[in-house]
Amino acid sequence: MSIEFHVEGRAGSARAGRLLTSHGEIDTPVFMPVGTVATVKGVPQDVLEELGVQILLSNTYHLYLRPGVETVRQMGGLHGFMAWPRAILTDSGGFQVFSLNELRKVSEEGVTFRSHLDGSPHFFSPESAMQAQIGLGADIIMAFDECTEYPADRARAKASMELTLRWAERSKKFFEEHKSAVPWNRSQSSVLSSQQTKNPRFARNDKLPVDSTQSLFGIVQGGMDLALRKESAERTIEIGFHGYAIGGLSVGEPRERTREVIEATLEHLPTDKPRYVMGVGTPEEIAEYASLGVDMMDCVLPTRAARHGLLFTSEGKVSIKQARYAQDAGPLDPNCGCRVCQRYSRAYLRHLYASNEVLAQVLNTLHNLSFYLDTMRRVRHSISLGEESGFSPSFRSRPEP
Ligand SMILES: [Zn+2]
Repeated sequence: MSIEFHVEGRAGSARAGRLLTSHGEIDTPVFMPVGTVATVKGVPQDVLEELGVQILLSNTYHLYLRPGVETVRQMGGLHGFMAWPRAILTDSGGFQVFSLNELRKVSEEGVTFRSHLDGSPHFFSPESAMQAQIGLGADIIMAFDECTEYPADRARAKASMELTLRWAERSKKFFEEHKSAVPWNRSQSSVLSSQQTKNPRFARNDKLPVDSTQSLFGIVQGGMDLALRKESAERTIEIGFHGYAIGGLSVGEPRERTREVIEATLEHLPTDKPRYVMGVGTPEEIAEYASLGVDMMDCVLPTRAARHGLLFTSEGKVSIKQARYAQDAGPLDPNCGCRVCQRYSRAYLRHLYASNEVLAQVLNTLHNLSFYLDTMRRVRHSISLGEESGFSPSFRSRPEP
């Protein structure tokens, strides 16, 4: 068993579903918080559980560099290392390497790049990216792809798409041959298994079916060219994956274009498999993309913005650093039930931020994550009720302060 996906309700193009993984169930559409280096910055794992996070994302590139895949693997994979019993998805490292710009060189074989930490040279291929992700042991892992830059002309977008397709085949081949090496696979009769059973965090491993493995998702590329997106989708489906991601977005294109590409690509993806848009978006956008039929999304926006004092609320965006909040006794968001809004005033949050206190980052992140998760819960509820028009978050109709 790897994953199972069931669509349980529909409203127009939108679907409410349930994704079953080896580490728990996920209600979709789902927003996945980003825990780049095996931590959602500032938020302990027990609090993530209380917030209702069912799956989080971690970055292969960062973990490969530090602490290294072998360390994580020996600790029982990411679940054991970070003491997170629920589901995890890792990216392939392709997007992070793509973001390095001058520090990378792409060939048919793979990508040579320099570490952003110490400048040391490294190499990722479809095979080594799969090996790293199997060692990290997330429930869902991603094929190694080339994220096409923006803008790119058609010839460049096509060549990049073809490379991603060849890498997708190599990714799948390596995965199929090595998937039983995932740290929590119980058919592994290694020292690791006996170590794992000593750790109460791994108690649930004994309940996993013996043949539990990860799931591999393919990634559709093709730049902003809709015909190439169609071709990429069809040929990626031919290779065959457990789910399909739409990659190469949020790379500098206008937001309207992002939406067009998502909508056009979704048409060509199977309806019985999870559909994942990588690296989006604002609260309005995640609600909108869910309404188009996207099941999974991730973005650093809520956590990164929080650390810069930018908070999403039902009354619009709040920049908590502003002097206007210095003596504001009201809650950050009167319509939010999160522990931050229930307890603290805007004045206090503004003071923490202005004083550069660690707690400012913690509380701001908690609220923003709660807001995103609540937004998605509301969207899912509307879909379950068959309401096509219930997606717009309440803040859309209000002007930004
Ligand atoms: Zn709140």
